[in-house]
Amino acid sequence: MSLSGQIAVSSENRDFRDRFADRASAYRRRVVQLRFVLVPLLLAFWYVVFFAPAARMLGVLAFVTFFVALVFSKRTMPKLICPACERDTDGEILRFCPECGSHEVLKKGDDKYFLLWPQCKACGKKPSRRKGHQRLYKIRFCTRCGAHLDERGV
Ligand SMILES: [Zn+2]
Ligand SMILES: [Zn+2]
Repeated sequence: MSLSGQIAVSSENRDFRDRFADRASAYRRRVVQLRFVLVPLLLAFWYVVFFAPAARMLGVLAFVTFFVALVFSKRTMPKLICPACERDTDGEILRFCPECGSHEVLKKGDDKYFLLWPQCKACGKKPSRRKGHQRLYKIRFCTRCGAHLDERGV
């Protein structure tokens, strides 16, 4: 039994952490840059709303810029391609749990189960997304091939 951190990695999970590291850090960098741009814009908007209603146009401008930046950033976000199977890991949950790498994942379509989100029988997590497709789980393993990609998760 191999243990890495608190996660028990099974023999099905080939280790691709080294080859995934660059992609993960490019992704993390982009998330930080994004916050750097989006948070001040949102603050500017609320400032105008509460303290400077006369500068309405500025508020509108900040709001519009916020959404343009949001849409633009989604399009240009670095893709989290799995180095093992060369596919995008940031998609639908297919076979393996992205959090623990187990293949015991119940999906929406599986009979007997009515699930809003897939659920992992091994770790109990439900990898879900917000309406705008914002991911509410971390990718540590590739959902397609089960490769171990990142320790902390992206
Ligand atoms: Zn893969
Ligand atoms: Zn799991």
